[in-house]
Amino acid sequence: MTDGDTVSGVARRSYGRVLLKVSGDAFCREEGTGLDMDEVRDIARQIKAARGHGVEIAVVVGGGNILRGAQLSTAGVQRATGDYMGMLATVINALALQDALEKIDVATRVLSAIEMQRVAEPFIRRRCLRHLEKGRVCILAGGTGNPYLTTDTTAALRAKEIGAEVLLKATKVDGVYDKDPKRHPDARRYDTLSYLDVLNQGLAVMDLTAISLCMETGLPILVFNLKVQGNIERAVRGERIGTLIHAG
Ligand code: UDP
Repeated sequence: MTDGDTVSGVARRSYGRVLLKVSGDAFCREEGTGLDMDEVRDIARQIKAARGHGVEIAVVVGGGNILRGAQLSTAGVQRATGDYMGMLATVINALALQDALEKIDVATRVLSAIEMQRVAEPFIRRRCLRHLEKGRVCILAGGTGNPYLTTDTTAALRAKEIGAEVLLKATKVDGVYDKDPKRHPDARRYDTLSYLDVLNQGLAVMDLTAISLCMETGLPILVFNLKVQGNIERAVRGERIGTLIHAG
């Protein structure tokens, strides 16, 4: 516990299979765009360390460091077209992460919801499960393959499909706060929250579709800071970091 935490009696636990969601902004420098391979290598090292505990890991990558469909549509691009462009952007991030993981001897597969056989396998649930059982890190690209959705929703969907015990939502802050910690020094971090707390208080954790899917299917979400070294490993080991969102 650190100053500003709220207290809760909910126990954490280590996990056997997790779905890690890494947003596109983790692939570039603070306030930047595009790809920064130092940042990508850092994510890869953290995944490798977590993998060392025998946990099976699937990673859903975002694409916001390259583009988002909603932003393009404000510039006049048809929304669905912009969304497909956004989904293609996630494939670029997936290949960058695959390269970084393979350079440090982590076996990976990229599986894409949008078929592009030269660079990735198609996402086939059973195939993904087989890769996970063999210890390969599965990098899931192309979002859901459908416009008007996000990679947070993809993460919730895939987590359920592959039987992940938790959705690890990697962010740049230490968890969910009652107000913006950058602007309010007295902001308090929640140790745990219920899905309804998130919805009723309008807390910016994930989009509504993603939160609703987690709530309906009872999938816990751990929101944690990816920029703290070793945090993916701590998250899979069930150490008390971040904010755990669950049924309450
Ligand atoms: N996207 C989509 N359908 C999906 C997933 C993603 O249309 O199932 C598009 C959407 O335009 C989105 C972009 O891909 O803005 C990049 O994904 P996202 O914004 O979720 O990336 P992140 O914010 O995690 O970097």
